[in-house]
Amino acid sequence: MTQKTIAIIGAGIGGLAAGVTAQQLGMNAHIFEMHTLPGGMCTAWTRQGYTFDGSIHHLAGCHPESPLYRMWEDLGAMPRKVLFPEDLTQVESSDGKVFTVYTDLLRLEEHMMSLFPEDQRGIAPYLRALRAMQRHDLLALSAAGLTGLFSVLPAVPRIARWGRVTMKQYAEGFRDPFLRRAFPIIQYDWPDIPVLLHLNLLSQCSVQNYGFPEGGSLAFSRSIAKRFTDLGGTIHYGTTVKKILTKGRRVAGIRLADGEDVPADAVVSNASAHTTLFELLGETWVDPKTKAKHAVPVDTMTMGIHVSLGVDRDLSEEPHALMWLLDEPVQLADQTVERIPIELYGFDSTLAPAGKGVIKVLLNTSYAYWTDLATDTSRYREAKEQLVEKLVRTLEPRFPGLSSQVEAGDVATPLTTERFTGNGPTYTSESGKLETMSMMFSTPKRLPSLDDFFYIGQSAGGGGIPGCASMGRNAVKKLAKEAVGNRQ
Ligand SMILES: Cc1cc2nc3c(=O)[nH]c(=O)nc-3n(C[C@H](O)[C@H](O)[C@H](O)COP(=O)(O)OP(=O)(O)OC[C@H]3O[C@@H](n4cnc5c(N)ncnc54)[C@H](O)[C@@H]3O)c2cc1C
Repeated sequence: MTQKTIAIIGAGIGGLAAGVTAQQLGMNAHIFEMHTLPGGMCTAWTRQGYTFDGSIHHLAGCHPESPLYRMWEDLGAMPRKVLFPEDLTQVESSDGKVFTVYTDLLRLEEHMMSLFPEDQRGIAPYLRALRAMQRHDLLALSAAGLTGLFSVLPAVPRIARWGRVTMKQYAEGFRDPFLRRAFPIIQYDWPDIPVLLHLNLLSQCSVQNYGFPEGGSLAFSRSIAKRFTDLGGTIHYGTTVKKILTKGRRVAGIRLADGEDVPADAVVSNASAHTTLFELLGETWVDPKTKAKHAVPVDTMTMGIHVSLGVDRDLSEEPHALMWLLDEPVQLADQTVERIPIELYGFDSTLAPAGKGVIKVLLNTSYAYWTDLATDTSRYREAKEQLVEKLVRTLEPRFPGLSSQVEAGDVATPLTTERFTGNGPTYTSESGKLETMSMMFSTPKRLPSLDDFFYIGQSAGGGGIPGCASMGRNAVKKLAKEAVGNRQ
């Protein structure tokens, strides 16, 4: 029997997971990655001894009993040391009010009941729901398969109502003005998400199933890349794919930027869905339904700017995340903000020199704002420098002395992300509909008229790191199954 050769475009989490699975199933897998590192968005970069993380806030599947943990073990990413900060976040106002969202639910209950005694009627059902959700990780449903789905069914009547109300809407029922302001933003400053998603995150943090892998995102990605190469797979770094080659209705391989054609029996693309469909394949392959799904470019980039600061300051006693409510709105880049979401990496001592720490702020932004600035390199550079300066000044009242403690400052804009990962603006369907079922089950995507081909990853509908990894695995398992079917 001849060994099936599979070409994988991109060493993001999806591509790496596809590669490991292909090697485990006896295929000959080659990953072609335009960057010099594995991980794609799941990455980090270093400046003057500080590691600035680009992705993981919470990794799902850190508990050995989680079905996702078994996937991470298989991919070579577990076991590893995982850190479980005591808080999900802390909301602070300049007049000294502090609400800490503890991950220990008993501690959270005592804290909330004593801070907001008038709001017991809203807090009690919230805490009951958190406890009910401890047994059900919604992100693990795909990995748990049908058994997972059946196990969650009895809980559906109790949890379904939380899927119909947003964080902002639930907060409107609270009496305390500080809690009304704070509650909508305790999950990554996303007031419009259903409370159910927040319950899932916090309840899974409370049972130490969601955590932060020590060393951060790049170390995590590197461990999957290592499993892939240990299994005999090859990663071709610094190698951009320009075209997916076809013969009849099958893929035949890929063409590299230097013009070399690489034959393959199957191709899995982890490049962005837009690049894959409209650049690597060309519109003739893309059916109208798929085209419509990727029709509308979205200019707003959620968490599009990363401002990272390496500071000569001990952050080990700080909360791991902080929402700093401002007295007056400030202008940061193209946004006027009333609060600053801050990440304080004092909980992972490997990311900074001893006694020092990393502070990061993620801001929403407009893609067009940066493409316009980039037409003039010095204006673009100046805008980044001014952003660091203004942010440090804004944070100074919360962190007295900060201005003189900054040893490294870095701004990654949407254009930085695009340059290093190929992920520009996202594209959505004309209706703006999310494909929830396909996301829940990490279904890899294919085109009706093209065989031996899948596209995977976040822009193809993968939900976070576990969703993208599952998608990569599922794509390769399907290809292997089809190959066996074709031989029979
Ligand atoms: C700020 C931030 C925080 C996040 N926090 C979390 C979190 O807490 N938990 C979580 O689960 N997820 C989180 N995510 C999401 C997670 O990082 C992504 O969903 C995931 O890493 C995307 O993986 P992917 O498989 O789509 O591949 P990508 O990361 O998109 O990688 C694609 C790869 O393909 C390569 N490539 C592209 N085009 C070509 C080409 N033509 N030729 C060769 N190579 C090519 C790129 O260089 C890249 O390496 C976060 C993301 C961000 C930005």
